[in-house]
Amino acid sequence: MKKSFIFALIALIGAALVPLITPNPYYIHLVETIMIYSILLFGLDIVVGYTGQVSLGHSGLFGIGAYTVGVMFMKFAAPLWLILPASIFITAFFGAILALPALKVSGPYLAMVTLAFGTIIQILINEMTFLTEGPLGVKIPKPQIAGIKLDDRDFYWLVCAMLALSLLVVHRILRSHLGRAFEALRGSPVASDCMGVSVYRYKVYAFVISAGFAGLAGSLYAYSEQYISPNTYNFELTVLFLLAIIMGGRKTRSGAILGATIIVLLPKLLDDIEIFRIVATIACALIVIGAVIGLIKKWLTFNSVLVPVIGTFCLAVFSYQLENITDWRLSIFGLMILFVVYYLQDGIIGFMNKLLSAQRVLSEQQDLKLHQDHLAQEGNKENAFERSAEASSASEQSTELLVAKEVLMQFGGLKAINMVDLRVKRGEIHGLIGPNGSGKSTMMNVLTGIYTPTAGQIDFKGQTVIGKTSSEIALSGIARTFQNVQLFGEMTALQNVLVGLHHTFKSNLLDVALASSRYKREDDHATHRAYALLDFVGLGSLASEQARNLPYGKQRLLEIARALALDPELLLLDEPAAGLTAPDIKELIAIIRKIRDHHITVILIEHHMDVVMSICNTVSVLDFGQKIAEGKPLDVQSNEKVIEAYLGGSAA
Ligand code: ADP
Ligand code: MG
Repeated sequence: MKKSFIFALIALIGAALVPLITPNPYYIHLVETIMIYSILLFGLDIVVGYTGQVSLGHSGLFGIGAYTVGVMFMKFAAPLWLILPASIFITAFFGAILALPALKVSGPYLAMVTLAFGTIIQILINEMTFLTEGPLGVKIPKPQIAGIKLDDRDFYWLVCAMLALSLLVVHRILRSHLGRAFEALRGSPVASDCMGVSVYRYKVYAFVISAGFAGLAGSLYAYSEQYISPNTYNFELTVLFLLAIIMGGRKTRSGAILGATIIVLLPKLLDDIEIFRIVATIACALIVIGAVIGLIKKWLTFNSVLVPVIGTFCLAVFSYQLENITDWRLSIFGLMILFVVYYLQDGIIGFMNKLLSAQRVLSEQQDLKLHQDHLAQEGNKENAFERSAEASSASEQSTELLVAKEVLMQFGGLKAINMVDLRVKRGEIHGLIGPNGSGKSTMMNVLTGIYTPTAGQIDFKGQTVIGKTSSEIALSGIARTFQNVQLFGEMTALQNVLVGLHHTFKSNLLDVALASSRYKREDDHATHRAYALLDFVGLGSLASEQARNLPYGKQRLLEIARALALDPELLLLDEPAAGLTAPDIKELIAIIRKIRDHHITVILIEHHMDVVMSICNTVSVLDFGQKIAEGKPLDVQSNEKVIEAYLGGSAA
């Protein structure tokens, strides 16, 4: 963390020195454009890199930012201090108009909707001549600050300052609970919703924030170019922005800056055959050296380096055969994209990070030390639970926490749950068993709002659950784990639990951007609790490990810690012992018992009969979607119908 701060500081100071090093306005303008694009890419990366959505509308948003300057300057002669915030807010507003309907869909549909938006914006700018002067464009002089007109150099420094500010704000957003929400919904939308982080809301939020950055970039661009016209903000620019993210590397600010540099410099590079030859030669040399080192150190295999080496070699040779590059520009550009997509899927920065993974081990050790400090401060695991006192007093209100009546869940002709009643008493561990396909998981999905039942009634704490969204149900006190583990794979164990603690944050965007004391307090508190929860399930020492790298058994435990972070009154565990070794199962039983001791009611789906028999107070048995038995574990075990269902199941 510290290292990246120092790196960013050096880079920013370096950028700020450019006008002092070279008086050449051409170079100054180039770097200025890179910085402006970087601001936009910081925002776009939130949408593309973090939430995993594709936006083809960002050149349109960029255009809105630019034209806010155009219109406000032309019509109202508004000053800079008014125009910059206005372009951020107006573009964010348009972003919201786009996002609210568009983000109901995803994947190719979203791409189409955002593409249409971009096109419409361009057409509108073209047609609304009374406001925008249409195809003629608008001339904009450099702005004034306090009555003093900025010259090219002053404005360059203004852009520098805006870049630094954007970097700070985007950094704060992304490492806050908001950033975690964005990342989580990409990792597993269903788990996000079930952790009380509404996927739709945070997708829209991400898009609107991203639009704000596009607006700021657009307005700076307008002043930088001093002339704006509609056809700048076209489809090609949108694709270029996406490319920058892909090539630079998603989820890093350095990737965004590198991406911006590439898309600004590459076209210039491909204009000049001499420079192109030099660069192709250097690229070829670097790749050959890299391949040789990789082969010697056994990082890479011969097959994996063959194509890149031959490819860049041919490109270098080809560059000397060429007389004229203009006809080949697009083809070379296309080849480079293919190369990146095939070989550098995490972008250039992602690739370099992988090479420097030794560094990462170091920072992990630092994290671990941090964790030990936390432990020393806090001392016990008990602060993992917060609601226990409150919940125990609530337990006197009513004995039945969850009441489901005549629940029917039909998929086409299949009745996955057929008129099932379920009454779960407070403070109990309620087992739900049955052969495969008997409807157990479906029951959980119905209880957590993932499916809406075809018929029936479900009351939790005396209030109906039906019609509520998964995230509303989660926030009302039902947490769950999943049969097929649904962790946020790219996030660390600690961050996974912190997503569960999302509901403890009341801070808004402004708190986060300003790092207000409220946010800091909440963040501290959440971090402490997250560590305590990890300790509770025995994962304290793995806090900074990426969830996807954890062994399967640990992933299941992490899911439980994350679910507990929600401060649930009811915890649904879907086959938590599946795939666990015998000692792990013992540990799991102990953990579930401790959870009950904290007055959390548990519904446990489990195939391991010993687990069910040893800890459940009540067991319900499903078969073909119907409840065939219910009662104390021992009674159920000797029930003939149950024996038949299980034997029948295994015989089939
Ligand atoms: P269990 O968890 O008890 O093994 P499930 O609840 O996963 O069983 O499944 C019960 C039945 O419902 C199965 O026949 C399954 O194929 C069916 N089912 C579950 N989810 C869906 C769905 N989304 N669409 C269609 N059928 C489903
Ligand atoms: Mg199941």
